[in-house]
Amino acid sequence: MTQSSKALLDNNRIAIGIDIGGTKVSAARVIAAPTHPGQNAADCVQGFIKQPTPTNPEDFLATLTQMIQALSTLEGGAMEVVAVGIATAGIVDPVAGSILGSTGNIPFLRQISQLKTLLESKVSLPVTVENDANAAAYGEYKQGAGRGVSDLLMITLGTGVGGGIILNSQLVHGGHCAAAEVGHIAVSMSRERLCTCGKWGCWEAYASGTGLALTAQSLLRATPNATASRVMMGQNNILEVNTHQVIEAAEEGDPLALKILSVWHEHIATGLGSLINVLDPGVIVIGGGMAPFVNLERLTQLTNERAMLPPVDLRLAQLGNHAGLVGAAHLALEAAVVASRV
Ligand SMILES: [Zn+2]
Repeated sequence: MTQSSKALLDNNRIAIGIDIGGTKVSAARVIAAPTHPGQNAADCVQGFIKQPTPTNPEDFLATLTQMIQALSTLEGGAMEVVAVGIATAGIVDPVAGSILGSTGNIPFLRQISQLKTLLESKVSLPVTVENDANAAAYGEYKQGAGRGVSDLLMITLGTGVGGGIILNSQLVHGGHCAAAEVGHIAVSMSRERLCTCGKWGCWEAYASGTGLALTAQSLLRATPNATASRVMMGQNNILEVNTHQVIEAAEEGDPLALKILSVWHEHIATGLGSLINVLDPGVIVIGGGMAPFVNLERLTQLTNERAMLPPVDLRLAQLGNHAGLVGAAHLALEAAVVASRV
């Protein structure tokens, strides 16, 4: 080990993590020192800042550069920043640090696909780039709910269903850097629900918040005398019943809303059971905006009923919105260590 890589592995290990979201860019210094049992996100994140996501490439690069400079020279931050990790939507080639495909609601990112090269020309630090769902999984693996396991599946339940896979302590990228699109495994043979990807029957169309609303609409239509439930959900028009209304009605004890939530848990478990049989993860971490509405004990039971393997431990994510930038920072730091050995 060279002197410089040894220094990087000392307690002064620090990198800047940046998470590029559709409406805001978040950044912080991430302390990647050895973890301890009681650690939480607040212990490893310093100087958290966020800005609205710029709307053009020039402003975007300028914003990122300013954030990196501000965090590099943070007052009271005695530790030296040695790398920058970026988490972004889209298919990312982590070796080249380039964005290869679809970036959702930030279309201008395609114009600056060589993000690593562009940013390194503006800041004097090595930059790594990773897909945001992968980075979030890596964050939970390093400093969140997945600490201490080498094989982990993370799923994010929100408007859609995202995922990241770590096997043998390595992120799984696949041949085209597009692995872990777990939301698009098929769970239905019927042409009942069309997914945002254009295919029928994807897990995302059932297990996401959107899927929960569709299940509610379907059960409301199929249930005679559902008037009371409709009133409880504050909605006369079944087609407009949304996730929030179902959850509120369930919290107030409406039997049909509780049944809808129960079916949603079965939908989540159906995909997870299949993923366990393929991946054999030691732990499954559940994150995303819908995670607080998951009954973890019930979901664990339903999931393991559907898997052939011994019971798998399901855990709620611990890093919240910080997971992506924490994971990106760790990946950046590890890349810097490898580079220093060359
Ligand atoms: Zn799909």
